[in-house]
Amino acid sequence: MIRNEFLTFSGITEIPIPEFFPALCVLNDDDYMRAVAIIREHLNASQMDSDTEIACVACGETNPGNFGVCWSCGKPLE
Ligand SMILES: [Zn+2]
Repeated sequence: MIRNEFLTFSGITEIPIPEFFPALCVLNDDDYMRAVAIIREHLNASQMDSDTEIACVACGETNPGNFGVCWSCGKPLE
Protein backbone atom coordinates (compact mmCIF):
# COMPACT_ATOMS: atom_id res chain seq x y z
CA MET A 1 0.00 0.00 0.00
CA ILE A 2 1.09 3.59 -0.59
CA ARG A 3 0.84 6.01 2.33
CA ASN A 4 0.62 9.80 1.68
CA GLU A 5 0.28 9.15 -2.07
CA PHE A 6 -1.58 12.40 -2.74
CA LEU A 7 -0.32 14.49 0.16
CA THR A 8 2.77 15.99 -1.50
CA PHE A 9 0.79 18.37 -3.70
CA SER A 10 -2.22 18.71 -1.41
CA GLY A 11 -1.40 22.31 -0.50
CA ILE A 12 -0.91 21.54 3.20
CA THR A 13 2.65 22.80 2.89
CA GLU A 14 5.04 23.82 0.13
CA ILE A 15 7.98 22.73 2.25
CA PRO A 16 8.89 19.06 1.66
CA ILE A 17 8.46 17.34 5.03
CA PRO A 18 9.60 13.68 5.10
CA GLU A 19 6.58 12.61 7.20
CA PHE A 20 4.33 13.69 4.31
CA PHE A 21 6.32 12.01 1.53
CA PRO A 22 4.62 9.11 -0.25
CA ALA A 23 5.73 5.83 1.34
CA LEU A 24 5.40 2.32 -0.05
CA CYS A 25 4.43 0.10 2.89
CA VAL A 26 4.96 -3.66 2.66
CA LEU A 27 2.22 -5.46 4.61
CA ASN A 28 3.41 -8.98 3.79
CA ASP A 29 7.15 -9.80 4.10
CA ASP A 30 6.90 -12.02 1.02
CA ASP A 31 6.20 -8.91 -1.06
CA TYR A 32 9.45 -7.17 -0.04
CA MET A 33 11.37 -7.90 -3.26
CA ARG A 34 8.37 -6.80 -5.36
CA ALA A 35 8.28 -3.53 -3.40
CA VAL A 36 12.01 -2.96 -4.01
CA ALA A 37 11.45 -3.55 -7.75
CA ILE A 38 8.57 -1.02 -7.78
CA ILE A 39 10.69 1.61 -6.01
CA ARG A 40 13.63 1.04 -8.41
CA GLU A 41 11.29 1.40 -11.39
CA HIS A 42 9.84 4.61 -9.92
CA LEU A 43 13.27 6.10 -9.20
CA ASN A 44 14.49 5.29 -12.72
CA ALA A 45 11.37 6.91 -14.22
CA SER A 46 11.84 9.98 -11.99
CA GLN A 47 15.46 10.29 -13.08
CA MET A 48 14.45 10.17 -16.75
CA ASP A 49 11.73 12.77 -16.12
CA SER A 50 14.16 15.14 -14.40
CA ASP A 51 16.46 15.00 -17.44
CA THR A 52 13.76 16.60 -19.60
CA GLU A 53 12.37 20.09 -19.11
CA ILE A 54 8.82 21.43 -19.35
CA ALA A 55 7.98 25.04 -20.16
CA CYS A 56 5.16 26.45 -18.01
CA VAL A 57 2.22 27.50 -20.22
CA ALA A 58 1.26 30.22 -17.73
CA CYS A 59 4.58 32.04 -17.21
CA GLY A 60 6.98 30.39 -19.69
CA GLU A 61 9.47 29.40 -16.98
CA THR A 62 11.42 26.16 -17.53
CA ASN A 63 10.81 23.35 -15.02
CA PRO A 64 12.39 19.89 -14.54
CA GLY A 65 10.22 17.19 -16.12
CA ASN A 66 9.45 15.56 -12.77
CA PHE A 67 7.84 18.71 -11.31
CA GLY A 68 4.05 18.62 -10.93
CA VAL A 69 3.67 22.39 -10.58
CA CYS A 70 5.68 25.34 -11.87
CA TRP A 71 8.36 26.37 -9.37
CA SER A 72 7.88 30.01 -10.37
CA CYS A 73 4.14 30.61 -10.50
CA GLY A 74 2.70 27.43 -8.92
CA LYS A 75 0.45 26.52 -11.88
CA PRO A 76 0.09 22.77 -12.64
CA LEU A 77 2.40 21.51 -15.39
CA GLU A 78 1.18 19.21 -18.16
ZN1 LIG B 1 4.79 29.15 -14.32
